[in-house]
Amino acid sequence: MAIRRIRQLGDPVLRARCQPVERPASAAVRLVADDLRDTLKAAKKQYGMGRALAAPQIGAPVRVVVVDVEGAKQRMTMVNPEVTDVGSEDFEVWDDCFSFPDLLVRVNRAYRITVSYLDLRGKPHSLECVGPMAELLQHEIDHLDGILALDRAAGNDPFAYRDEWAKLHDPQERYSPPRLREAPDEALVSSS
Ligand SMILES: [Zn+2]
Repeated sequence: MAIRRIRQLGDPVLRARCQPVERPASAAVRLVADDLRDTLKAAKKQYGMGRALAAPQIGAPVRVVVVDVEGAKQRMTMVNPEVTDVGSEDFEVWDDCFSFPDLLVRVNRAYRITVSYLDLRGKPHSLECVGPMAELLQHEIDHLDGILALDRAAGNDPFAYRDEWAKLHDPQERYSPPRLREAPDEALVSSS
């Protein structure tokens, strides 16, 4: 087990499309999961934030995510996580990431999702997530496809340094209330 360096914006491994894990119970996968957990723990202490880490962030281009949400007491290692269902509402989130820790990015995320994944014994699970947990897992699964929150920047002026944002906003403004997703096709029709 080891604390690894968290790869920073500009490192090509963050852009890799990660390989599915074929043997979740193998020692190699266990090692990645242990290192992710140790690195997340250390990073939480260092930055005072963070709830999850994806394998490419420690340089391992495989589909493994660890989650550690204190309030919800949710500690999970997710192998090959996949969004299998999406609700009809979106919300706006000022998202952050250990790979660019000083920056916040406004993104749109689905408010409710269902995620399927395997645990480290290869047992399948399905998890229904709402709000912050849904947003978190969309962010982490994006990492496994080489997608960063920066790529999903939404609306006017979608970037802010964390310190500047904090001067102007309350922490609860990080999340907007959910609202029905606009159907892009209908929007096009009604504007023409
Ligand atoms: Zn991230």
